[in-house]
Amino acid sequence: MPRMKEADVIILGTGAAGMAAALAAYETGAEVLLVEKFDRVGGTSAISGGVIWVADNPRMRAAGMADSREDALAYFRSLDHGDLVDETIEAFVDSGPEALAFLESIDALKVAVLPGYPDYYLDRPGAKPQGSRALDHDLFALGELGEWAARIYAIEEPKPLMLRETPLGGATTMPPPQVLGERMAARQCGFGQAMVARLLKACLVRGIAPMLGVTTHRLLRDGARITGIEAEQNGAPLTLKARRGVVIATGGFEWDTESRQTFLRGPVTAPASPPTASGGGLKLAMQAGAKLGNMTSAWWAPTLVTPDAPWASGEQRAQIILIERTVPHSIMVNRSAQRFCNEAANYSALGGVFHQFDPANYDYLNLPAYLIFDAQYAARYPLGTRQPGQPIPDWVKRADTLEALAQQIGIDGAVLEETVAHFNVHAEAGEDPDFGRGTSAYDHFYGDRSRSGAAVTLGAIREAPFYAVEIHSGLLGTNGGPRTDGAGRVLGHDGAVIPGLLGAGNAIACPTGGIYAGAGGTLGPALTFGYLAGRAAANANL
Ligand SMILES: Cc1cc2nc3c(=O)[nH]c(=O)nc-3n(C[C@H](O)[C@H](O)[C@H](O)COP(=O)(O)OP(=O)(O)OC[C@H]3O[C@@H](n4cnc5c(N)ncnc54)[C@H](O)[C@@H]3O)c2cc1C
Repeated sequence: MPRMKEADVIILGTGAAGMAAALAAYETGAEVLLVEKFDRVGGTSAISGGVIWVADNPRMRAAGMADSREDALAYFRSLDHGDLVDETIEAFVDSGPEALAFLESIDALKVAVLPGYPDYYLDRPGAKPQGSRALDHDLFALGELGEWAARIYAIEEPKPLMLRETPLGGATTMPPPQVLGERMAARQCGFGQAMVARLLKACLVRGIAPMLGVTTHRLLRDGARITGIEAEQNGAPLTLKARRGVVIATGGFEWDTESRQTFLRGPVTAPASPPTASGGGLKLAMQAGAKLGNMTSAWWAPTLVTPDAPWASGEQRAQIILIERTVPHSIMVNRSAQRFCNEAANYSALGGVFHQFDPANYDYLNLPAYLIFDAQYAARYPLGTRQPGQPIPDWVKRADTLEALAQQIGIDGAVLEETVAHFNVHAEAGEDPDFGRGTSAYDHFYGDRSRSGAAVTLGAIREAPFYAVEIHSGLLGTNGGPRTDGAGRVLGHDGAVIPGLLGAGNAIACPTGGIYAGAGGTLGPALTFGYLAGRAAANANL
């Protein structure tokens, strides 16, 4: 006989969305089972920056910063290419502040405004150039979790910093090594680690200990209603019955090759997310007859594969690159040795350039792509996990001339020399007439803040040795899946709610329709819809 358990609400997935759902369901009076496929908690959320974007959020209000529903909706609608659904985008804007206030009130989050981090599309109505919609986490001491601390995904790579103390959060200096040492000794962490740890602690103190290693095979149904899951845990069959609802919060599908190739609009050669984004939730939703949305879209990001640092489970690992393509003395070129974009533009919007197709050659115009930089860059700036001043890793190509570098990566040397010479002339004049790099305040955010004006991001590539490393068409997660209503209830093909099935986070069609509003643009909707779905599941009429 399979082992059987029963609760009001079953949540699949222990990322930000799943734990927010578990807490909201519990606080609404439901008995909750929180179920995780892997032997670690937190998925992509745990390795993320943890930044949360919510318009008119409680921290802004407390600091007297102006924002409004109208500004937020005008901003989203100005960026819409037909993906936004009024009900869900309005639910995100209206409920985001409430979801954050709820999670803060139960000590499941502790956040502060990330100073000066601008929205990503500053020319649009309702955008906030001074930031404030993006929130960062205070430090969390892992000792508070007891043995569960070791169960957080990739916790072996501790981040004893708050994002706002690093160049990623706009700081120009980092805390001194002594402070970092003290924090390491106290097992304090920031970033997504702090977010997941605090959410997990809030779950544990309520008696919601995640069930790990549970693979769901199918949803159980009673007529139209979803009533639980049929699964296995460590090889033993397991049936979990849900009296009120099942919430799918399993993250994206980017590590499921078949789903990725079937749905995404262009090639993805190296996701930055961990292999936990395995697409199980999408398959469950399809089994249930869900209407799908946003399936071609993702949170795109140029990435850098770090061959010397794979995931602990052995898969290829890639880092999102932000500073590398924004600081001076670097450009990106395509297979034709030509620049193809404003390298400093926001990562998600840049995804599109990797999917540009060349009808003449029946191939992708900008793949493979390379980051080209020089000795000035190598002396001052980071590359992936390598810090300034550390040796450039062996897997980065290097040569004394651009011609020789081009030969190593198989692109045309004469064209590369021409591309660099053209870029240099304009960079020294502080302009980029080809792609406008440096014209938006966003382009400066990850640049070299010790310089001023356009020199924050523009600088000639002149000093040998020259370096080249492949840049991949990557992503932070997919954002398509079952469509929901404004309460996170999954819709069927006919547009009617599938009773007992809910969803949140990267596992659903994102309420922002794939618009990455600003830093935190995925975790804001994930936490908000986690909160809404958890509450709706707990309140479900039977
Ligand atoms: C390097 C990096 C930095 C990022 N930084 C930010 C940032 O600062 N701000 C921001 O907004 N976004 C950021 N993102 C994106 C963000 O992390 C994700 O969009 C977000 O974490 C998704 O949350 P989620 O809860 O939907 O999924 P996840 O956090 O991936 O959680 C899903 C969980 O479900 C589990 N699971 C999978 N399948 C099943 C199954 N069948 N049954 C049960 N459990 C299952 C997974 O193991 C995982 O634990 C970043 C991403 C990366 C890669």
